[in-house]
Amino acid sequence: MLPDRIGSAMDGTFATLTVLGSGSSGNSTVLSFGSLSRKCLLLDAGLSPSAVRRKMAQACVPGLVVGAILLTHLDSDHWQRGWARQLERNPVPVVVRSGLRGAALDAGVPSSCLRVVADTFQLGSLASVTAVAVPHDDLGSTAFVVESAAGRIGYTTDLGECPRAMLDAFVDLDVLGIESNYDPDMQRSSPRPAFLKERIMGPHGHLSNDQCADAVMAIAERSALQHLLLLHLSRDCNHPALARRAIELRSSALARCTVVALRGEPTRPVSFSRGACPVELA
Ligand SMILES: [Zn+2]
Repeated sequence: MLPDRIGSAMDGTFATLTVLGSGSSGNSTVLSFGSLSRKCLLLDAGLSPSAVRRKMAQACVPGLVVGAILLTHLDSDHWQRGWARQLERNPVPVVVRSGLRGAALDAGVPSSCLRVVADTFQLGSLASVTAVAVPHDDLGSTAFVVESAAGRIGYTTDLGECPRAMLDAFVDLDVLGIESNYDPDMQRSSPRPAFLKERIMGPHGHLSNDQCADAVMAIAERSALQHLLLLHLSRDCNHPALARRAIELRSSALARCTVVALRGEPTRPVSFSRGACPVELA
């Protein structure tokens, strides 16, 4: 049973998601809460603090301050060590799931900021967060569900496959952000070494466009999505048109509300509110 909502589109409650950067050169997404708070949530800190400030201004979400950081995992494209100094000056909670505690400390997350969570926890008065382990390399990555008065977001990147626990948590979503990392033909024909191709295409690597699109459809059937964000496209082994096409082949309506995040530039801010018109799957 899902908890009762604490607000809706009717009372003007909305939130905005903006991907500032996505891909192996740095991942950071901002979740802001409309007029309710100047504090925003940063999903991954793979861009430097100054790049986050600059890109927030560029993306028309200026005047926000980072109130907490959720880290999917500790690879350098998701945690930029420049944040350690920033956090010592201006501490905010940095949230990781329990299996990543040691990796977070090793990567320089200040222990005074570190919050280690097992599953669902309340983040201040604005949002609750559910963390689910997903397979990626040795330690795995983390899928998050962030629930606020504006609705529920599912966010997952860097995963070789979608575990049942994640699909069970990704229900009743208003917005989904999910990686669509590579096109298999481009991956196979790339000059990358065989071991790397195997790692990327294996169950502890990344999602291909088709794997992503299949997961999107399974999730969409149990949600009322207003927006879909495709994340973490490979620079060498994917193309935005291919990632979008995989969605289009399954649902043209969903493709029309799909935003493909690019490496170098922020997406447009995507606003949502509980009760706003969801996409009719077709
Ligand atoms: Zn990554």
